Amino acid sequence: QYILGIETSCDETAVAIIKNGREIIANVVASQIESHKRFGGVVPEIASRHHVEQMTIVLEEALNKASMTMNDIDAVAVTEGPGLVGALLVGVNAAKAIAFAHQKPLIGVHHIAGHIYANRLIKEMTFPALALVVSGGHTELVYMKAHGDFEVIGETRDDAAGEAYDKVARVLNMPYPGGPHIDRLAHEGEATIKLPRAWLEEGSFDFSFSGLKSAVINTVHNAEQRGETILPEDLAASFQESVIEVLVTKTLKAVEAYDVKQLLLAGGVAANKGLREALTETFKNKEEIDLVIPPLHLCTDNAAMIAAVGAIMFEKGMFSDMSMNANPGLDIQFQQ
Ligand code: ATP
Ligand code: MG
Ligand code: FE
Repeated sequence: QYILGIETSCDETAVAIIKNGREIIANVVASQIESHKRFGGVVPEIASRHHVEQMTIVLEEALNKASMTMNDIDAVAVTEGPGLVGALLVGVNAAKAIAFAHQKPLIGVHHIAGHIYANRLIKEMTFPALALVVSGGHTELVYMKAHGDFEVIGETRDDAAGEAYDKVARVLNMPYPGGPHIDRLAHEGEATIKLPRAWLEEGSFDFSFSGLKSAVINTVHNAEQRGETILPEDLAASFQESVIEVLVTKTLKAVEAYDVKQLLLAGGVAANKGLREALTETFKNKEEIDLVIPPLHLCTDNAAMIAAVGAIMFEKGMFSDMSMNANPGLDIQFQQ
């Protein structure tokens, strides 16, 4: 079974081909970071235009790398949402055109389900599983009893983790996307600055990062006013320590409360070195929990993860028809 995956929800134009749900045959990602950098963030119109320009090139490259033609493909899976509507539309329309022209089934995939399924390209899933999703737009704990069965048991009430990273980076005059820069800087500093941790109510698996973000901004402004200097590396280290402490503590509590067998790390912030190390350390002596951490290129947006979800939906016979449309507010439930 060969699934072709297409992803255009944000600023990566990506096409991948995977075999039997788990084996990557081709995985091509064209990033637009350079075009958005000077604006300090993703500009939706620019993103859409780039996707239009890159789509056919990336598709051809993926087929070439796989030494395959569309005749060898069993279904076309595409990110249906959530994401930027104009960006999603390019992928959805391309997928519809290809599926129609080659008479292949069409599958609409949820982007966050994709981030979670990046893990299945590394290791087979065992249930019940818990996914810690930390990306540019989402911070969630997702409980899974079976393939396609997603229950969001906690989520952010304001900023996503990646969003907080990008905003803090901006305050420290670092280029977009700031996450990797803060991560690097954090490893050079000491967490000497006192910053808040948002635990929320006892027993809650929700998150909140806006208070922490504001505290970082206030710290910088207060220091400027007083003419004091704060080492950016110390601020980065303190910020990162706060984010990681809350993420890891809540994840550990959820793992215990839901008695899961496997813990999956997902989303762009899963590329964070500090987070990867802290999770590895925390679960080192817990042999009953199988911790899976995908390599960096499968944490950030790609189409292999979309094809991986497509493979499960293909087996379940969950196809879309030509009326499928980009859905920026798509819900994660797919089950069946
Ligand atoms: P979503 O998946 O929620 O729709 P998105 O697709 O824009 O949002 P991703 O591509 O999954 O988000 O992740 C991008 C985010 O990951 C950015 O906010 C970026 O700063 C962050 N990020 C990437 N690498 C790191 C890192 N090493 N440390 C912290 N954050 C990182
Ligand atoms: Mg991106
Ligand atoms: Fe993403």
